[in-house]
Amino acid sequence: MAGLKVEWNDWCPGCGNFGILSAEQQAIQELGLDPKKVVLVSGIGCSGKIPHFIRLPASGVHTLHGRALTFAIGIKLANPSLEVIVNGGDGDQLGIGVGHFVSAGRRNVDLTVIVHNNGVYGLTKGQASPTLKLGVKTKSLPKPNINSDINPIALAISSGYTFVARGYAYDVKHLKEIIKKAIKHKGLAMIDVLQPCPTYNDIHTKEYYDKRVYKLDEDPSWDPIVKKPEEMDDKMSKAILKSMEWGDRTPIGIFYQNELVSTYEQRIAERSPSYLDNPPAHDVIEFEGKPTTDVEDILKERRV
Ligand code: SF4
Repeated sequence: MAGLKVEWNDWCPGCGNFGILSAEQQAIQELGLDPKKVVLVSGIGCSGKIPHFIRLPASGVHTLHGRALTFAIGIKLANPSLEVIVNGGDGDQLGIGVGHFVSAGRRNVDLTVIVHNNGVYGLTKGQASPTLKLGVKTKSLPKPNINSDINPIALAISSGYTFVARGYAYDVKHLKEIIKKAIKHKGLAMIDVLQPCPTYNDIHTKEYYDKRVYKLDEDPSWDPIVKKPEEMDDKMSKAILKSMEWGDRTPIGIFYQNELVSTYEQRIAERSPSYLDNPPAHDVIEFEGKPTTDVEDILKERRV
């Protein structure tokens, strides 16, 4: 779908998704991006409705459960001039989609992944999702959670993401600035957004987070940016250690950023020098609805 400008929205009142939508929209506008060159890709879940609800004439694809990243990578590699943003819940991206989430890190494609982290599967009535901690009982669970949780920050860093941050859905201004930095970052960016689901998660509420979140950028000693290759291991370890802070004090902000790693697009261009000027999206493959070329020939030409 392209050029949507819908006015309706069916998220529950007070849902943290509103803050993420607002921050994302403002970030795109403040960066001066041409909305026609922005593609929002989502999976299944409440967060999956972002491409429908955004009030910008951007393109959007509401894809399959856990598969948004694969669609997004395909779009970006076919046309590297597009700005691609993935939205999905923690269930979508860290449950069924976790294999894609991890393998994406090895490629470092230049796009932005936003995880709407609410600890529940909101669209299907609040089952425990991958970020809910062991033993926590939300109001929608008959018994405390029997599974341990995934730490999205630590997982992203160890998988190879080169920009890893956390935002809070009710601090829209701060989240907007993180999204802007993630979009500008050259490489794969992941933002874990604390997103209260007031309908099904009565533990991690706005009141819970308001008292606990603190900003990493207010600590002058915190420097998450890798400036030389020899700093990489140390900054990575510090970021992973920092991501384990949870509870009374929960950090938000940038945990890790490294632009010294080549993007997948650069790696392809090294093997296929015409790739960036003439990406697959420029191939003329049909005229008046009839194929003009054999797909096998295109694949042969594009093989790297
Ligand atoms: Fe938001 Fe939860 Fe309602 Fe879904 S179920 S729209 S996540 S409040």
